[in-house]
Amino acid sequence: MLGRSFSGVRGVVCVFRGTGPADAWLVRDRLEAEGIPVQVRDDLSAGRGELPILDSWPTLWVSAERAAEAEAFLHREATLRLVVPPWTCTACGEVNEGSFEWCWSCQIEPQ
Ligand SMILES: [Zn+2]
Repeated sequence: MLGRSFSGVRGVVCVFRGTGPADAWLVRDRLEAEGIPVQVRDDLSAGRGELPILDSWPTLWVSAERAAEAEAFLHREATLRLVVPPWTCTACGEVNEGSFEWCWSCQIEPQ
């Protein structure tokens, strides 16, 4: 990940590094809902004062057998988050793709 060595850890793989304190816990809930057991390592409590802050958010670890599954799930989730939901034009009621900036039917811009 960021150049830190976890070579002392066997059989588990780091699949996620949070970008904020809440991230890892939210993702853990999603993975556990998928039936994948997750271990959270809170680097904040483990290494405060010794590690650069960017390296100090919690990380998620899963067993090596489930790592591919967990990574595929996280990849799907990340892709889903980029999809903008469709919107309905208030003027003519047409449903537009989320990526459309104007209504395809009457060219009115959503507010
Ligand atoms: Zn319209």
